[in-house]
Amino acid sequence: MQNPLEKILIDQINAHGPLSLGRFMGSALGHPDYGYYMTRDPFGVEGDFTTAPEISQMFGEMIGAWVVDTWRQFGEPQLNLVECGPGRGTLMADILRVASKVEGFLSATSIYLMEMSPVLKQAQKSALHQYDVTWVNQLDDVQGSVPCIVIGNEFLDALPVEHLTRTEQGWKQAFVGFNEDRFEQVLQKPESGLVDILPSKTESHQTYEVSPERNAFIDQCSSRIAQDGGAGLFVDYGYIRRYHGNTIQAVRAHKKVDVYQNVGLCDITAHVDFDALCDIAQKHCSVSPVITQREFLRHIGIEHRAKVLRKVAQSSDDIDVALKRLIDVDQMGDLFKVMMFYAEINRS
Ligand code: SAH
Repeated sequence: MQNPLEKILIDQINAHGPLSLGRFMGSALGHPDYGYYMTRDPFGVEGDFTTAPEISQMFGEMIGAWVVDTWRQFGEPQLNLVECGPGRGTLMADILRVASKVEGFLSATSIYLMEMSPVLKQAQKSALHQYDVTWVNQLDDVQGSVPCIVIGNEFLDALPVEHLTRTEQGWKQAFVGFNEDRFEQVLQKPESGLVDILPSKTESHQTYEVSPERNAFIDQCSSRIAQDGGAGLFVDYGYIRRYHGNTIQAVRAHKKVDVYQNVGLCDITAHVDFDALCDIAQKHCSVSPVITQREFLRHIGIEHRAKVLRKVAQSSDDIDVALKRLIDVDQMGDLFKVMMFYAEINRS
């Protein structure tokens, strides 16, 4: 039995041939009626996966401290604060709880959320009901030419990737076909432009992931920041040195599952190639070296914050467990990376 999204995808494949892996991933997550994010709130113990802001308020508080510090370094200007893929709105709520204690911040700031899911927009509305928030579909919809700070946690990993493999017959791209009763991968000639965005050195018989959507997003984001001044900060799991291999994974109820089964009912993500994104951001902005989540959170002072919270928390064990999950190298500390880029405000 196929679910309604699977039926739609099979019809498309029958009519037009196999779908590129990226389009398959894009539909599985974002199909307007049946896409994974469009139909549910996937977070937490009862859901499919948990993210850093959902683990502890300390994560958002540290990002909030970074936002305030960045705003101050720019001279406390009028600001557009934009979060991409805000999930339940927890990260923004934690950021604003910290930042609203800083005189002048809230009155200087317009808050934007870029979110595609109607279900998650509702969750964000209730998490942020006391603030004046504008929802946008894309960065270009953010109004005004004041400096902007654009952030995202686990947003980039949800944007589709394509797979290219170097074979004896040259580069081949992964597509998804349907054979009798199952989706399966087929290799075909690459679509135009994809081979151009591969790393400069590649090995034969290896598969490389490229993401035109992420590249386009970071290009747009960093050029907007270059134009209006400001900064970008993106946290995600990924790698720093360019790398080969398939990092696509599907998750349901906290377990890894088959990407080609129960399409639209599981989360699908792929590790972020931070080198590729830094190369693009560098065309427009100053890019800081990518650091680990552990380095970032410790630098901002998460251990100090944990000490304060332990004194007021009902159980200091909970704080210790959350801190370990966020910063330990065998938990999220190393795998998750932080990418930051900046551009001066043009005061002319
Ligand atoms: N930042 C949140 C949620 C991460 S899950 C957290 O850390 O908990 C990914 C989020 O990105 C979801 O809110 C999803 O709906 C959103 N999203 C994915 N692709 C998107 C796109 N193309 N445009 C806007 N939002 C998107």
